[in-house]
Amino acid sequence: MSAGSPRALGALVALLLVFAIGSIVALAVLVATLAEDDEQTSATSCIVTAVTTDDDQERAPNIPNGWAPLVEAAAQTAGLPVSVVAAQLQQESNWDPNAGSSAGAQGIAQFMPATWATYGNGGEVTDPDDAIPAYGRYMAALKKDVEPLADGDADQLVRLTLAAYNAGPGAVQQYKGVPPYEETQNYVRTILDVGQSEFSAHCQAPTGAQEWDGDLGDGEWTTPLPGGKFTSGYGGRALAGVPGWANQHEGVDIATPGAGNGRGGVVVAPTSLRITGFNATDGCVIAKENGEDPDFGFAFCHLHSWDVAKGQKLKRGDVIGTEGNRGRFGMATHLHFEIYTPDAPDLVFPYQGHNIDPEPILKQKGAWPK
Ligand SMILES: [Zn+2]
Repeated sequence: MSAGSPRALGALVALLLVFAIGSIVALAVLVATLAEDDEQTSATSCIVTAVTTDDDQERAPNIPNGWAPLVEAAAQTAGLPVSVVAAQLQQESNWDPNAGSSAGAQGIAQFMPATWATYGNGGEVTDPDDAIPAYGRYMAALKKDVEPLADGDADQLVRLTLAAYNAGPGAVQQYKGVPPYEETQNYVRTILDVGQSEFSAHCQAPTGAQEWDGDLGDGEWTTPLPGGKFTSGYGGRALAGVPGWANQHEGVDIATPGAGNGRGGVVVAPTSLRITGFNATDGCVIAKENGEDPDFGFAFCHLHSWDVAKGQKLKRGDVIGTEGNRGRFGMATHLHFEIYTPDAPDLVFPYQGHNIDPEPILKQKGAWPK
């Protein structure tokens, strides 16, 4: 089209208007969502403890398809926390009643045919109404098998029962503990972690921050995603399929290579900071530097889960949470990291005029991803 054509100009103005209105609407929605999330407490981690009495049996959130009563009853039968049972079923089948494995495991709890013959009570392995209660009976039997090895430690008994499911009770007995197989160790850790982060109803704020045990480099700060690579910079961009406001991009993106859409790496505090709030919709932990002036503000976004509570103080390298892809539109796993000017309020959100480009600051502090 000719640039001077009045019709073309009119169309352009109309287009800009539509875009501007769209942006205002998007911004209004964003601000409303953020305000709402302000009050929301985080999915902080907590220690999964064994069930000792009926009263301790918690109700777990996030169980899909109305299966919560089935899962709670199975947890009761097994004598395991609901959060652990839910995380294990998710790990086994991702809640797919028709899941199968090449080894021959079937159904939501991935029963092998011989085990199903013992615990299935003649039911249908692909029917959750049959398979979830059978899973409870099977876990109860495994728990009984390994109980003498736990030496009265209820938490250890949960770990041993999970290990017995994964590696067999014989292996747990052989090693008198969680067997040293990498797969089994990961299995137990993953289920306890997911149980805490996704299915625990009443997590307490953690008492102390967990230190990351990897290499933090020798800069004054450390990179917020150790092992991550820089993928996208601060400022306007033109990604297809994302709203205008997201294309303003008031932060930098760092991603763990190969993380895809799953859980990524460990997100750590780049420097001493205190947690000031959360934006659950976009998976953001918001924080303020807690040290010498100037005290910058931070946002760590799209996290899969986080392990911190509001008001908690962290030192350089303490774990904030796990890289993920939580947000209101689809994206690959990455950390979106923002820095705010020192004059920003404690609980600060993007598009309030306080964002600054993190890249030169991270570079100056020796914390830019390699
Ligand atoms: Zn980003």
